[in-house]
Amino acid sequence: MTSPACIFCKIIKGDIPSFKLFESDKVFAFLDIQPLSRGHALVIPKFHGAKLTDIPDEYLTELLPVAKKIAQATGAEDFNVLQNNGRAAHQLVDHVHFHVIPKPNEKEGLGISWPAQ
Ligand code: C5P
Repeated sequence: MTSPACIFCKIIKGDIPSFKLFESDKVFAFLDIQPLSRGHALVIPKFHGAKLTDIPDEYLTELLPVAKKIAQATGAEDFNVLQNNGRAAHQLVDHVHFHVIPKPNEKEGLGISWPAQ
């Protein structure tokens, strides 16, 4: 299910360009355009729904393994995985997304293999 007006549905379709990190039949992942750290990624279901409670389990079960792979790929020892639901919870885009936000190692930096934005 997609929503024609949704910016993340447009990214999934390729109507809006993104730096794609991963795609399967149920999941899409790309770099955040306003990263909180180098490598900040978003992992989203290919099912339009604003909140976690709107998304079928068959999509949800595929999201965290992808978030895990992306976190591992950054090489960061420390990272956040965050998911906001609703305005009071600081959600801006009404299509479920998991943020993967690597925390750079103060000594060695972040040895990730995709370019900084
Ligand atoms: O969790 P929340 O809804 O606040 O986060 C939305 C995220 O989507 C922001 O980090 C923003 O930079 C990102 N975004 C994006 N590409 C867009 C629109 C928003 O990466 N075209």
